[in-house]
Amino acid sequence: MSTETKNVYVFGAARTDGDAKMKNILGGKGANLAEMCRLGIAVPSGFTISTEACTVYTEQGKEAVFKLIEADVRAGVAFVEQEMGKKFGDAADPLLLSVRSGSRASMPGMMDTILNLGLNDEAVVGLARKANNERFAWDSYRRFVQMYGDVVMGLKPVSKEDHDPFEVVIDMLKEKKGVQLDTELNTEDLKELVLRFKGLIRARVGREFPTDPWEQLWGAVNAVFQSWNNDRAKVYRELNDIPDSWGTAVNVQAMVFGNLGDKSGTGVAFTRDAGTGEDLFNGEFLVNAQGEDVVAGTRTPQQVTLEGSRRWAKLALVSEEERRTRFPSLEELMPDIYAQLLQAETKLEQHYSDMQDVEFTMQEGRLWMLQTRNGKRTGSAMVRIAMEMLQQGIIDEKEALRRVDPERLNELLHPVFDPAEIKKARSIAHGLPASPGAATGQIVFFADEAEEWVRKGKDVILVRQETSPEDLRGMSAAKGILTARGGMTSHAAVVARGMGKCCISGAGAVRVDYHARTMSIGNETWKEGDWLSLDGSTGEVYLGQVATKEAELTGDFGTLMDLADRYKKLAVRANADTPDDAKAARNFGAKGIGLCRTEHMFFEGERIKAVREMILSEDEGGRRRALAKLLPMQRADFEGLFREMSGLAVTIRLLDPPLHEFVPHDEANQKIMAHEMNVPLGVIKMRVDDLHEFNPMMGHRGCRLGISYPEITEMQTRAILEAGLNMKAKGFDVKAEIMIPLVGTVREFNSQARVIRQTAAAVFAERGEQLDYLLGTMIETPRAALIADSIGQQAQFFSFGTNDLTQMTMGFSRDDAGKFLPSYLKDGMYERDPFQSIDQKGVGLLVQMAVEKGRSVRPGIKLGVCGEHGGDPASIEFFHRAGLDYVSCSPFRVPIARLAAAQAAINNE
Ligand code: ADP
Ligand code: MG
Ligand code: MG
Repeated sequence: MSTETKNVYVFGAARTDGDAKMKNILGGKGANLAEMCRLGIAVPSGFTISTEACTVYTEQGKEAVFKLIEADVRAGVAFVEQEMGKKFGDAADPLLLSVRSGSRASMPGMMDTILNLGLNDEAVVGLARKANNERFAWDSYRRFVQMYGDVVMGLKPVSKEDHDPFEVVIDMLKEKKGVQLDTELNTEDLKELVLRFKGLIRARVGREFPTDPWEQLWGAVNAVFQSWNNDRAKVYRELNDIPDSWGTAVNVQAMVFGNLGDKSGTGVAFTRDAGTGEDLFNGEFLVNAQGEDVVAGTRTPQQVTLEGSRRWAKLALVSEEERRTRFPSLEELMPDIYAQLLQAETKLEQHYSDMQDVEFTMQEGRLWMLQTRNGKRTGSAMVRIAMEMLQQGIIDEKEALRRVDPERLNELLHPVFDPAEIKKARSIAHGLPASPGAATGQIVFFADEAEEWVRKGKDVILVRQETSPEDLRGMSAAKGILTARGGMTSHAAVVARGMGKCCISGAGAVRVDYHARTMSIGNETWKEGDWLSLDGSTGEVYLGQVATKEAELTGDFGTLMDLADRYKKLAVRANADTPDDAKAARNFGAKGIGLCRTEHMFFEGERIKAVREMILSEDEGGRRRALAKLLPMQRADFEGLFREMSGLAVTIRLLDPPLHEFVPHDEANQKIMAHEMNVPLGVIKMRVDDLHEFNPMMGHRGCRLGISYPEITEMQTRAILEAGLNMKAKGFDVKAEIMIPLVGTVREFNSQARVIRQTAAAVFAERGEQLDYLLGTMIETPRAALIADSIGQQAQFFSFGTNDLTQMTMGFSRDDAGKFLPSYLKDGMYERDPFQSIDQKGVGLLVQMAVEKGRSVRPGIKLGVCGEHGGDPASIEFFHRAGLDYVSCSPFRVPIARLAAAQAAINNE
C-alpha cells in the first residue's frame, strides 16, 4: 500500500482497518461496515476507498487518482479473494463484487449501487455450474448489465414513456410471456434480456458492454467519484449545507446472493418503529430477491416479525389464513435466520445506542448484514425513542435531550390529518409547506368575512392571492390559510408560523377571482363555502373534509419537557396578546408573557372605530374623548391576561406601530368615520393623507407616538394598572411590566417614564392602593444598544426587539428584503436569513454589548428577547451564551424554545 496516505481500508474476518468513528474518511456506510466486522457480525468482506481519493479525483482528475490508488485497490481485491477463496476474473468460479457509494452524510442523489460486478459471458457459465443453478446465474447477470448500463454507461431514456429503458424491455417480454413478476421469467427469458440489454446499450451509447472484470471495476469506481459532482448531488448538498470538499467513499464488497432460491432473500429492518417510535423490531423482506427489490414495490414484501405481519394483515385486509400461507413472516418462514437477525439488531442498537435502520441478505440459510445506520424518524418517534431509551438506561439525560431536534417538535404540536383519511382524499394543488398543521374548513376569500363566518361557528380556510397586515384578524380566525403567491417568508407564511396556524403559500396553480368569489385550478372551479383541507407540513391541498386528530402533549412529550426544564438556564416566555393566546402559552409551559402587543387589541370588533377616532381627531380634546372609550376595553383585555398569567410576569408594550396602519383607506370606511365623528369626509381624507410616510418603519412610531400624544401613554398605563389592581383584588398574583418601545435616547425614555409614573401615582391615589410594576424598555434601535449603560440607569429591564434591531442594523426592512434576500442566501452573501436566525457577528454584537453595559450599571437588570429569534434554536443558543434571562416566542414555539434552551445549556457547560 502507498506509504504516504492510506487510500484503501479493508474489512473482513482476518483484518479490519476502519471503525465507526472514521466517517469522514470512510463515509457512513464504510465506517459502519467496518464497525460491524469489529462487532463480529457477519458482513461480506470488502474494502473502502477513502473520501480523500474522491477529493483528488475532483481536483486532479481521473488519471491522477487512478495512479494514486491502483496498487491499493489491487491489494484490496486480493484481500477479498483471500477471504472468500475465489478469484476476481476467474471464469470457472468468479468472485463477484458490489460497488457502493457512501459519503459522510447520507445523500440521496449519489450513485446507485452496482451488484454482481465481474460477470461476463464466460463467468456466468462458471457461476451457474458452481451454484448448480442456471437461472440464478442469469438473473444475476441480467441485473448486473442493467445496473451497469444505467449507472456507469449512462443509458438515458429517449422519451417520457421510456422513463426506464431496461424496464420497458422487461415489461415487453413479460407481456409477451403473459407473466406478472420478474421471478416468473425463466432462464431462457433472462438470457434473452441480457442480449437485448447489451444491444440497447450498443445502439444508444455506441459502446460495447465491457467484458473484462477489471475494466468493469474501474469504470464503476470512476462512476462513483463522478456522481459526487453530478447535478442531483450538487443541488442536494447546496440545500443541506454539505461542503463539496467532503467527497464520497467507494465501498467494494464481495457479493452475497439473496436470489439463490427459496432459502435466500433480502430485506430491510428498523430496530424500533420509525413512525411512532414504538420499541418494536420491524421490517420487510422478499424471498429469492436481490438489492432494492424490497423497496422497488413490484412484489408485495413480507414482514420480518410475526407481530408486524399480523398488524400488516389487518391493515391490508388480508385474512390470517392467507397471511400464513402467502405472506408468512420471516419469523415463521425461516426461524433460524430470524434468530440471527434478532441477535444482530439487538447488538447493533445496543452498540450504537440509537435506533438502527439495517439492510440484510440471506443466502441459503445464512444471514449477512449489508448496512446499518441511525434510522430517520418522525418527530413523535424521535421523542418517544429518546425518552424510552433513557428509561431503558441506554442513554443518559443529556444525550436524550440532544437526540430530539427542537424544530421537529412542531410536528407534535399541531393537529394532524389521520393518515388513513389522507389516502382517500383527492389532492388538487401543491404549494409551499409554509406553516405546519392540518386544517379543514370552508373557503372564504376575505379576512373580515373569515371573522364573520367564524363568529357564526363555521370553520374556514382563508384563500388569498396573498395576505397583508389588514388580514391579521381574519387569518387568526381561519383554520388555515392558502395563498397563490408568496414564498416561505411571505407575510402569510411568517404570520401563520407565529400564530401556529396551518398555512400553504405560493400554490401557483391556484387562481383567485375575488370578484366572482371563486378559486380555480386548470378548468375546475370552486366557490366560497366549498370545503378544503390543507396539510401545512407537506404543502398538499385536498378537496373536501379530511378528518384531523389533536396533538397529544402528554406522555413522552411531557417527560421531555420536564427534563429540558431541569437543564435549561434561560426562561421561556411567550408573545401573546389575548387571554386565549396566554392560556395556550401557559399550557405549552411559558413562564410569563415577554411581549403583549397592545395594538393587536385595537382591531377587535367595534373598538377599531374608537381607535380611528382617536387618530383622526384634530386636537387633544378629541383624542381624549376617543381614548376614554378605549380605556374600559383595554382594561378588560389586560384583566384577562393577568388572570391567565397569575403568578407570572406580563410585559406589556405601549403602542408601537405607525398610526397609518389603523386608519381606513377605502372610502366606505372613511364615510363611516366621517359620520361617526360628525366631520366632513374631506377632513378624514386629509388626515389619512397626512399620516402617509415614506418609511413608516422608521417614521412616527414607537415612543415617538407617546411623546407626541402623551394621552395615549396615560390611557394605556391607566388600563394596565387599573386592571392589575382589579385582578389583585380578586386574588390573582399580578406581575406587570410596562415596556416603552423604540427608545433611542435617555430623554425619550425619561419623558415616557415620567408620564407613566405620574399616571401610576394618580391611579394609586384614586384607588388608595399600590401595585408593584417594573418599567423598562425595548432595545431595538442600534443607538439604544450603544448607550445601553445610560438607559440601564433608568430602565428596570431590557427586552431586545431583535426584528427591528436586525432591520435597522442591516439597513433593510423585512418587508422589502424578499426582493434580494433569497439570492443573497443562495450566493452565500449571508449564511442564514438574519430575520430567522440572529446575525451573531453583527446584530449579536450589539446585543452582547448592551447586556454588558446594562449589567455594568444595574447588576440585577432583567434581560430578555422578544423578537422572532426568541423561537429559533440557533439564536437561542446565542442568547444563552450572551447571558440573557429569558427568551420570548410565539406560544406554539414555547416547547421548541424550552428544548433548545436545554441543549444550549448542555452544549455550553
Ligand atoms: P443505498 O445507499 O441506496 O442504500 P446500498 O449500497 O446500500 O445502496 O445498496 C443497496 C442494496 O444493494 C443493499 O441494501 C443490498 O441489498 C444490496 N447490496 C449491496 N451490496 C451487496 C453485496 N455485497 N451483496 C449483496 N447485496 C448487496
Ligand atoms: Mg443501503
Ligand atoms: Mg419593534
